[in-house]
Amino acid sequence: MPDKKVFISSWLLSLCVLLLNPCFGAGSTSLQISGTAISSALVKNTVSHQISENGSATYSLSYQFPVAAATRFPEIRRSQNWQPSGNGWVREHMFHDGFWFGELPKVAWLKVSFSDVMQSRTTPIWLELASSGVSDATLYYQLPNGIWRSINSDAVYGSNAKYAPSRFISFPLLNELKQQPIYLRVEASNRLHLQVNVKENADFQSHNTQVDIIFAIGYGILLVMALYNLVIGSFLNDKLYYLYSGAIVTSLIYQFFAHGHARLFGNFNWDIVNSALNIFAMLSAFIATVFLYYFINFPQYVPKLSRYIRIFLYLFGVATLLTFVLPSNLSLNIALLIAGPTPLIAMTLAIIAWYHGSLSAKIFVYAWSVYIVGGFLWVLYWLGLVTLNLAVELPLLIGAALESILLSLALGYRIKLLREQSSQLQVSESHYKKISMTDGLTRLANRRAFDEQLAKLHTKNLHYSLVLLDIDHFKQFNDAYGHPAGDKVIRNLADILNETVRENDLAARIGGEEFALIIQNDDVKVAFNIAERIRVAFSKSTFHVNGKSVRCTVSIGVSSAQEEPQNIILERTDQALYRSKKLGRDQTQIAHV
Ligand code: GH3
Ligand code: MG
Ligand code: MG
Repeated sequence: MPDKKVFISSWLLSLCVLLLNPCFGAGSTSLQISGTAISSALVKNTVSHQISENGSATYSLSYQFPVAAATRFPEIRRSQNWQPSGNGWVREHMFHDGFWFGELPKVAWLKVSFSDVMQSRTTPIWLELASSGVSDATLYYQLPNGIWRSINSDAVYGSNAKYAPSRFISFPLLNELKQQPIYLRVEASNRLHLQVNVKENADFQSHNTQVDIIFAIGYGILLVMALYNLVIGSFLNDKLYYLYSGAIVTSLIYQFFAHGHARLFGNFNWDIVNSALNIFAMLSAFIATVFLYYFINFPQYVPKLSRYIRIFLYLFGVATLLTFVLPSNLSLNIALLIAGPTPLIAMTLAIIAWYHGSLSAKIFVYAWSVYIVGGFLWVLYWLGLVTLNLAVELPLLIGAALESILLSLALGYRIKLLREQSSQLQVSESHYKKISMTDGLTRLANRRAFDEQLAKLHTKNLHYSLVLLDIDHFKQFNDAYGHPAGDKVIRNLADILNETVRENDLAARIGGEEFALIIQNDDVKVAFNIAERIRVAFSKSTFHVNGKSVRCTVSIGVSSAQEEPQNIILERTDQALYRSKKLGRDQTQIAHV
């Protein structure tokens, strides 16, 4: 039974993710403006639009949003529609028309004015648009001689880039740029979700380096785990490992682009990338859910529900395919509504299977608890409840990395289970083989084992002697003393045979009261002596039946095998046995060659 605390906390977390999920829309349709303080003492004030350093304002932000894409800069500059960012948030109602069929792309204009303190600084300041969804940005600034200039993000990131790229579009503001208000046109493929950070040069550089290293480790772990599962999958020819590898790779690609790191590797068409992100969000959620379904053995543990879950998975698959063909704004809605609640669905399925005894489901719940915390914070960020910082971004990646390690270990454990199962299978296989070769009454080899042994000796061309035994007047014995007494006699002869045979010999019960001995020695004299020892021992055995003491005898035929087919040897030995019967029973006869 699951540990109660884990059960409740993981389920509550999942519930939170679900409840917050519709708000994804609110976060992404809103313009979020905040500034990161320049000195660390002011970090708490990230959402105030006027941030002060030593009591004086450093810069102020105002915005216009939404703005028609075609609106030109001079018009914007003359416009009176500027709104101070206030506490840093602008929210629109999430289910307005734009949420479902919003026109694309979204455009916002920002105006940034710097205080005297900032203007007198000589080191560059960086203006960072901390959102990977930004597809294009242009900075407008006025030179001291009154002429307006503009820099497009392509100039910062294109092949002629002047600066080392960072994962978010960032503009360096040199001294001359800070004297007048600067204007920024920001364009996003889907809904605009934007955070503005203002950073000092040294801060900006070192922070970027640290972030890139940490993220590189996370991506590296995901990549290694994806390869690990791919390799194991190909060794075991098990589609489950391929599925998991696919879930990791799609999640890795999603995160690589969503955290903006793809921008370090080239100037992609970000409108296309943002559309592709919807597809990858859906693909990774879909593959992860299919993987989960098989990983926790859902059909085995919860057969009643599994039909409905399969129908759900088919619909999920269709929705995933739809994201490939629908316009990006619609596919984003699909991703929000279907991929968003996936953590809750996955968690619920796993907990149900766990309650029904699936050990893998238990491991899954533990592994996902970490991931869900990351997802939860990620949702808070999209909601605009927290600004983007490492504490918000990293748990998603760390959660994914930990989850991939834990589940890969769990998949490794599966190999162990499979091995144990197959060795158990081998054990039971040899067990059944043994049973099929053994006589039930006497535990001697049976007719099948006897035939196989003879055939083996002949194919290997080994010489041997054959002894055939048949209890005398056994029908009469049975009639006189009863079948159970007869069985006792049969077991007694079997015991004597068992005691007589050497390791390489074989004693078998080949018929009702007929026995055979294969002796790996082709000297017929030796075989004769052994047979006589058995006959005498058996004839001396007494059986107590109904208060009477009775005896039984056995007739024996012996032959040594020459290089002839086995049926001829059998026939010859049988004739010797028949002679023993005819000559008065209770004796051993050697076959004529
Ligand atoms: P002979 O000396 O010529 O061999 O005479 P016989 O009566 O032993 O020969 P026959 O082949 O006519 O009879 C064999 C008898 O063995 C018949 C059957 O009742 C008995 N028998 C066969 N299998 C078993 C068994 O498993 N248990 C018991 N109690 N009797 C068996
Ligand atoms: Mg017989
Ligand atoms: Mg008999």
